[in-house]
Amino acid sequence: MIKVAINGYGTIGKRVADAVALQDDMKVVGVTKTKPDFEAKLATKKFDLYIAKPENVELFEKAGIEISGTLEDLIKRVDLVVDCSPDKVGAENKRIYETHGMRAIFQGGEKKDVAEVSFNALANYSDAMGKKYVRVVSCNTTALTRTIYQLKTNFKIGRIRATILRRVADPKEDKKGLTNAIMPDPIALPSHHAKDVKTVLPDVDVVTTAFKLPTTLMHVHSLAVELREKVTKEEVISAFEKEPRIMLLSAEDGFTSTAKIIEFARELRMRYDLYENVIWLESIAIDGNDLFLTQAVHQEAIVVPENVDAIRAIFGVPKEVSIEKTNKSLRIGSF
Ligand code: NAP
Repeated sequence: MIKVAINGYGTIGKRVADAVALQDDMKVVGVTKTKPDFEAKLATKKFDLYIAKPENVELFEKAGIEISGTLEDLIKRVDLVVDCSPDKVGAENKRIYETHGMRAIFQGGEKKDVAEVSFNALANYSDAMGKKYVRVVSCNTTALTRTIYQLKTNFKIGRIRATILRRVADPKEDKKGLTNAIMPDPIALPSHHAKDVKTVLPDVDVVTTAFKLPTTLMHVHSLAVELREKVTKEEVISAFEKEPRIMLLSAEDGFTSTAKIIEFARELRMRYDLYENVIWLESIAIDGNDLFLTQAVHQEAIVVPENVDAIRAIFGVPKEVSIEKTNKSLRIGSF
């Protein structure tokens, strides 16, 4: 049993905690918060709660929230920490993990040099085997990587151009927003996503542009992929059908927008979590030497299976064994 701590019980942390709790070879020993808010109260209903900032202990006592100790106490009870703290805070937390000689997984909001390796379960699982510090790449990078990996392992491909339409904020974020605008982010080429894809797929030729849009539900990616051999649309569809972490949905079934995809996911999963890339069937088209497709990405959930697999990679479990266990427990590819 791998004993796991989740440091940071926010959007990603609470989902990773639930996913880890579903695994028969892992146990969540505790989760952390810094503030004694409703999310801290909810956390105590499922997990032992520790505080990431010991100086806040009185605030928790005052709020009547029971804690099991500090982050340092938690670290002493586990084999690995999944750091799900806000962007750039993970790098600061690394000092604590180093002091305790503790293995850690970081998220995509950290720079790549926070860890020995950036990780995507399909693309480079074996690179993380036996490592101490692993960074799971961001939601957009995870989705781009899965799709590109599946194309690259089935066909000869050349240059990839991708336009990323980003949700401006997660649903809970009331301090961020964009009410009536579309923001090129960045305005100058390229966006950082292409560079990030290369941290897990170093030999692909990819360039990305990105825009923020006033929506919270999902990101959408429009991809154009150069084909270096004759390929039919049916062959592309069948390559995607082979990968459970890619879900093909059809506009004919009513999936006309991200709103409809999320409405479907509300029936399918807790918190409407979609762990899979969603590719619109009708968007897959070949024009001359170029393959086009459009995919939607549930930013809050897509990295969750990757975190579970990263834990097993660190402990040397083979790729196929981990991915199968993760997919089965999260019901990926089985609707
Ligand atoms: P979030 O919702 O803001 O959650 C962050 C959590 O970290 C909160 O529970 C917060 O607790 C806690 N925290 C704050 N300061 C901390 C500290 N010093 N030590 C430990 N924990 C601390 O953030 P998130 O969206 O889950 O993002 C976490 C990471 O995942 C980031 O690297 C982000 O880039 C990455 N990521 C996010 C998404 C997404 O769409 N949200 C997708 C993929 C990857 P308090 O509230 O109690 O302060």
